[in-house]
Amino acid sequence: MSLQNPVFIPGPTNIPDAIRKACDMATMDHRSPAFADILHPALDGTRRVLAQETGETFIFPASGTGGWEVAIANTLSPGDRVLAARNGMFSHKWIDMCQRFGLTVTQIDVEWGEGLPIAAFEDALRADKAGEIKAVLATHNETATGVVSDIAAVRRALDAAGHGALLMVDGVSSIGSMPFEFDGWGVDVAVTGSQKGFMLPVGLAIVGFSDKAVAASKTATLPRTFFSIDDMRNGYAANAYPYTPAVGLLNGLKLSTRMLLDEGMENVFARHARIADGVRAAAGAWGLALCAKSPDLYSNTVTAIRTPAGFNASRIVEVAARDYGMAFGTGLGDVAGKVFRIGHLGSMTDAMALSGIATAEMVMVDLGLDISLGSGVAAAQAVYRHGTQPERMAAQ
Ligand SMILES: *Cc1c(COP(=O)(O)O)cnc(C)c1O
Repeated sequence: MSLQNPVFIPGPTNIPDAIRKACDMATMDHRSPAFADILHPALDGTRRVLAQETGETFIFPASGTGGWEVAIANTLSPGDRVLAARNGMFSHKWIDMCQRFGLTVTQIDVEWGEGLPIAAFEDALRADKAGEIKAVLATHNETATGVVSDIAAVRRALDAAGHGALLMVDGVSSIGSMPFEFDGWGVDVAVTGSQKGFMLPVGLAIVGFSDKAVAASKTATLPRTFFSIDDMRNGYAANAYPYTPAVGLLNGLKLSTRMLLDEGMENVFARHARIADGVRAAAGAWGLALCAKSPDLYSNTVTAIRTPAGFNASRIVEVAARDYGMAFGTGLGDVAGKVFRIGHLGSMTDAMALSGIATAEMVMVDLGLDISLGSGVAAAQAVYRHGTQPERMAAQ
């Protein structure tokens, strides 16, 4: 018998059966007209999830990391300066990629658990009278620490400084799960992948470009071949790709965007917020602090939970996998061994979250932490009671 628990890692996420079936297609000639009926609805749905009506959207066969490369390689030139903050493993890796591309990075180090340093960004931009900074890199949701940052505030900092740098946003673990407004926040490049909020297998890098970012691509000189947005645009104009597209994944994306939009993005965001509230309530009942420093930074897609000093948090992840067949996220980089992470994004319900909370609780009791069985579950139940109809239930 093959039994499958839901996963509680912050990507790849659980895949609804309907999406799995949509990805599982007989081979199609990707040059046949039928491909247009997959490509264009997938692109249109993606743009609505991004809240992007301006600019252009590209979908490459890659993971989110490939999306970072699409952003950089198409808009920047060797030696260009970018401004970025390092507040977790993902922001760290994007900076590393910039350095490997021969870009000059003005790096602001922030304690892991903090959000993007808006005031320091503004200071750095104001100080850059010569306009050397060509892009500001902003990780919307730092998946390593469970910290969400205020992208609209980064845009305001750019505008307040009167600076023309591109605003590039890593929305890999936020887009499709937490509010994200490409046009509304003045984002120039937004990067995401298929295996988080879009509930798909890994394999698509989704990248939105503003008109300004597209214009920058005309003069930028970093080399790009596989990740060329010009080649991709030409492909789309002919209902095709510059190479063989991942047809099954795109068919899955067509469905997953429709599912998100049918649920309603506001409802999707509210569901993630409610589930996250329950997970945070459980952590509080366990007497454990979050890695995120303050409530305004709490991520609704992943919660990084600190364990007591001297306790190796990775043990929780190991024992959960070994004894209960359940996957949680381990601590990465600076917080390795200090936190474990509960991913709660994508195809996730209150009842699924309760199973993860209950299992994490059993593991921590097994490992001798001073936690009472049922305490976290009860705290989450108090949040989830009455389902999505608390007002109606209260009135009865
Ligand atoms: C998962 C993730 C990535 C990397 O995506 P891959 O698909 O693993 O390449 C980048 N940024 C953030 C914030 C992520 O959560």
